[in-house]
Order: sequence, then structure tokens, then C-alpha cells
Amino acid sequence: HQTGDDDIVMNNNEGGEVGPSPKELIGAALRERVESIDHEFCEPGDEDTFFVADLGEVYRQHLRWKLNLPRVRPFYAVKCNPDDKLIQLLAALGTGFDCASKAEIEQVLRMGVDPSRIIYAQPCKTNSYVRYVANKGVRQMTFDNADELRKIARLFPEAELYLRILTDDSSSLCRLSLKFGASLDSTDGLLALAQELGLNVVGVSFHVGSGASDPMAFLKAVQDAHFVFQQAAGYGFNLKTLDVGGGFCADNTFEAMAGVLRAALDDYFPAHSGINIIAEPGRYYASAAYTLACNVIARRTIEDVPSAAASVVSGDVNGGSDAGVPSYMLYVNDGLYGNFSSIMFDHQHPVAKVLRAGGQTMYNTSAAEALDSAMSQTLSPSSSTSSLTSASEAGIGGVEYSIWGPTCDGIDRITDSIRFGVTLDVGDWLYFEDMGAYTKCSATTFNGFSNEHDVIYVCSEPGAKALLGMI
Ligand code: PLP
Repeated sequence: HQTGDDDIVMNNNEGGEVGPSPKELIGAALRERVESIDHEFCEPGDEDTFFVADLGEVYRQHLRWKLNLPRVRPFYAVKCNPDDKLIQLLAALGTGFDCASKAEIEQVLRMGVDPSRIIYAQPCKTNSYVRYVANKGVRQMTFDNADELRKIARLFPEAELYLRILTDDSSSLCRLSLKFGASLDSTDGLLALAQELGLNVVGVSFHVGSGASDPMAFLKAVQDAHFVFQQAAGYGFNLKTLDVGGGFCADNTFEAMAGVLRAALDDYFPAHSGINIIAEPGRYYASAAYTLACNVIARRTIEDVPSAAASVVSGDVNGGSDAGVPSYMLYVNDGLYGNFSSIMFDHQHPVAKVLRAGGQTMYNTSAAEALDSAMSQTLSPSSSTSSLTSASEAGIGGVEYSIWGPTCDGIDRITDSIRFGVTLDVGDWLYFEDMGAYTKCSATTFNGFSNEHDVIYVCSEPGAKALLGMI
């Protein structure tokens, strides 16, 4: 079912007991899973990497969105993480969906989402997919070139078209304007052609690049979109919707980004203009909600001897680890060909933290804190971290590791060098936070490793639980 905005409530625990914090919930799920595995005798795959997803985090992100961008209706970019549960929650929260392929559209329609809540935001579409969406009543789609207009005129002339324009995406992690977007030199010609073909242009869209960091990119794009709105009016098109795309990060840059966008919209597309504003956020919703746990499947000890491997671990071309202290290459059961595909494709730097070492689970526990404080005292009186974790973050000693994936490829390295206050061995576990965006969706089965990994769902917000029927 779908909710109106009024149904959204925060986990304020009013009048009730204080529930577990998100960290406690995630920690409990991680702990329960890893402690249930008998590493000596388990079946192949029982110790596979797995996710814990806190859907309450998605819910909180939605509230944050509404607070910062109240005029902008999000259409979640399914490509970022097409997890059914995540989509189910967003559908219940009333978002729309940005889909890029038949399979994504099919998945969203299967959830009972009305076709009017889907935009086929792919400027270069497959013919048969265009026929498919015409048949399913998914009318909104983007275009950015003349060939695509002729394709649409042939296959789905009733489509509601958004002209996607080029942006300055130079500050983003993943540049999209290298591939998509009409330059402002070409928009006049495209609108003229659309008019000649009798097509229905209803809006303008843009994308400032995924993982954008310069809020001014939004201002410039909104200004350009405004120019194209006026240009379109000259061809008799009465554009109704502006699509400001994705690019929003979940970290604390969001508020600044949203602030600039909000002001630009108020200047160029004020509420009284009656223009609808939509967006296509992906990473913003998904990234922080997913934590990934990986098992250490093998370890190579690098003694205090110069060797090629030791050089890799220490980053020291003269070879060798700290005098007398071995360092280690850890091999875990997930890597660049798996859920860490985000390192290659999405320019991410996931940070390993210790989940379980020597039979002790350490996520967010007093044991972790004890170990942390012991390490801090021994190694650096000034350092402090809340949940243990990586000693290198605090700039202190500990044992040095490099972390590698399970495939035979040398490129399959997750971390070059990291230090922990514990000595890790086969059977121990690491975890990585913020693993929800562009991770499992681009994992391969290279070397025969599965890319189907369990997701354990928790929900730190009662409001989201209720929407999902979890309570
Ligand atoms: N919309 C389109 C057309 C995209 O190509 C992408 C990402 O590639 C997105 C939205 C989602 O971007 P983000 O995850 O940065 O919000």
C-alpha cells in the first residue's frame, strides 16, 4: 500500500520503552549470524559474505529528503540497488521510480506500482523495451538526440518526453555527461524535430553526475533547464515537469547540496509557476542502509623479510614490515568482482572494521571498546574511537594488513594497507559500512563465486516497520 506524507512518524519512542539503536540492531544481526556458523564443519557457502540492511535508515533518509527538498518528489533510481524490500518500502512511502531497463520496470510494476510513477530515464533505449513500456502504459521517458526521437516517433508516439540536457559533472565521482545529455547548442534543433514529428515533450531532465560534490553544478543545471523551458515554449510545448536527476550523497554534504538546489528552484521554477519537480536519487537512499560482513578465508604472513609481497603490504619499495612485527595479507570471501565492484565502478574506498576475532564478536560491543581503549592507551594516549575498528584511522600502531578478494586476479584488492589492534586469522570476520549503493547490483560470478548473498533485514524505525508489515 501507499502512504500519504502524514503517515510518516519518527522513532521517537514517546510513551514507550527506548528501543535498540540502529547500531545495536545491526550489531545484533551481524553477531547472531556469525556466531551461528561452525567454521570447522560448516557446509560450503555457509560462511559466505552477507549483508545486514537497516530499512529504518532508508525511512530516515526519506524524512531528511522531505525536510530539505519539500517541493521535489523523489523517483528512486532502481539501478543503484534493486533490492525488493527497499523498493517495497519506497513504494509504500510514495516515491516514484527511475528505471533504466525492461527488467527494472518489470520489477517495479510487479510491486503494484502504478506506471505513472515510473520514468524510463535512459536516453538511448532498446527498441523492444520501448514497445514493452508502450504496452505497459509507462509513458514518461527521456531522450537527448534526434535518432532517439525518430525511434520514439515510430514505436511510441504518445510517450511523455523529457529532454535530458548536458551538465557540468566534473566534480562528480561518476561522470555521466560524457555519454548522455544534449548540449544547449542542440536543444533548439531537437525541440524543432520533436514538434515536426508530433511528439509530446513534457519536461527537461538533467543529472549532475553520481556522487556530485559541487552544489553549484545544480544551480547551473537549473538555469540551463529554465532556458530550455523557454525555448520549448517557442515551439508550442507547455512543459510541466523538471527532473533534477540524482547525484545526491548521503553524507553531510546533502544539506548544502539541497540548499543550493532549493534556492535555485525557488528562483527559476517558483511554486506559483505550477511546474512539478522530480528527482532520481539512488545512492542517497541506499548507501548507508547496508552493512556487509566478510569472512577471512585465508591469510599470508609477511615476515620481516624483503619480498615482493611484503612490499605490497607495507607500500615500502625496499620491502619488509615493521622490524620484528609480521604483517599479513588477508583474503576474504568477497572482492572487486563481487560486492566490492563499487571500488572499480563507483570509485569507493570501503573501510574494513573488525567484526569477529579469535572467537570474540566485536561489533559495537564493550569488548570492542575495551580493546580499543587498551590499544589507544598502549599506542596513542590521545586517540579515541567509538567502536573498534581500524587503528590506522586513529593514526596509531597495531598490526598491518592488506585485504584481498577471493578471485585469482591481482587487481582484486580491497585495501592496500590498514591496521587493527588485533591479530586476525582464518575464520575471523570483517565488516564494511555504507555498502548499499552500486555494490551487489554490479557483482559478477567471476571464478564461480556466487553473487547471490543473503540480506538480513532489520528496521530501526517503527514507522517503516509498519509500512512493511513487519509489526
Ligand atoms: N538517474 C540516472 C539517469 C542515472 O544514470 C543515475 C546513476 O547513474 C541516477 C539517476 C542515480 O544517481 P545517484 O545514485 O548518484 O543518485
